[in-house]
Amino acid sequence: MNKVRPKKQLGQHFLVDESYAKRVADITDRFTTDNLLEIGPGMGVLSKFLNEKKKNLRLIEIDRESVEYLQKNYPEIEVIEGDFLRYDLAKLDWSEFAIIGNFPYNISSQIIFKALENRELVTEIGGMFQLEVAQRLAAEPHSKIYGILSVLLQAFYDVSIEFKIPPGVFNPPPKVMSAVIVAKRKKEFVLPCDEKLFFKVVKACFNHRRKTIANNLVRFNIPRDLLLQNQFAKLRAENLNVDSFVELTNFVSHQIEK
Ligand code: SAH
Repeated sequence: MNKVRPKKQLGQHFLVDESYAKRVADITDRFTTDNLLEIGPGMGVLSKFLNEKKKNLRLIEIDRESVEYLQKNYPEIEVIEGDFLRYDLAKLDWSEFAIIGNFPYNISSQIIFKALENRELVTEIGGMFQLEVAQRLAAEPHSKIYGILSVLLQAFYDVSIEFKIPPGVFNPPPKVMSAVIVAKRKKEFVLPCDEKLFFKVVKACFNHRRKTIANNLVRFNIPRDLLLQNQFAKLRAENLNVDSFVELTNFVSHQIEK
């Protein structure tokens, strides 16, 4: 069957070097669940290796042409035709599962946000992002690339960068380097604060990176003099680790309740 014609608007860069596909599939050996959801399988270069591991594998792919290709070439693998971002993950009927993929780079952040929203179900997230995004996800405080996604993901998952992948092994080659990450959910993934508020506080604090925490938090309608009493008030978001954001969230909920 003819190969799938890469479509730019779907972020399609097909991996053509199978040795890399195998290396990506091998990271699932360290996952704690056998239920795997692969996002954006394309022509199945990764799916083939995942399927050899005899895990419970399901694919979700938005591109009709790719879905048809997969159904012809891998009839034994279950393909869901759909948009991962709109798909109701409860429909999988899995009590837990891991997400894997050579992800469509144009929706990387949205994939992470959706995984985070479903963190009670998602035990691991593994796969390929553009290098810059991977570095942001794994970034530590006090760096320019440390941001909303670093804090939110690391609040619930331990993140590591596994290896890099050069553009030349994809068709068409992307303009950027890629990297594979593994994010393993922490044993304790319930935060000692109001988690909804935690998301809001983290986002607000990074709203203007160069502003202080106090200046970014005025939107919560907390009087300035009270805000300034907080130990983090004069710092910037990039200086706060996850624990500090939890403390800050508890401070904010306390002030809001007053
Ligand atoms: N995993 C394949 C393809 C990677 S390209 C490989 O390594 O070769 C990214 C894939 O994600 C494409 O097949 C694209 O059609 C698919 N995709 C893009 N947006 C998607 C979405 N919202 N939901 C599911 N799949 C998507």
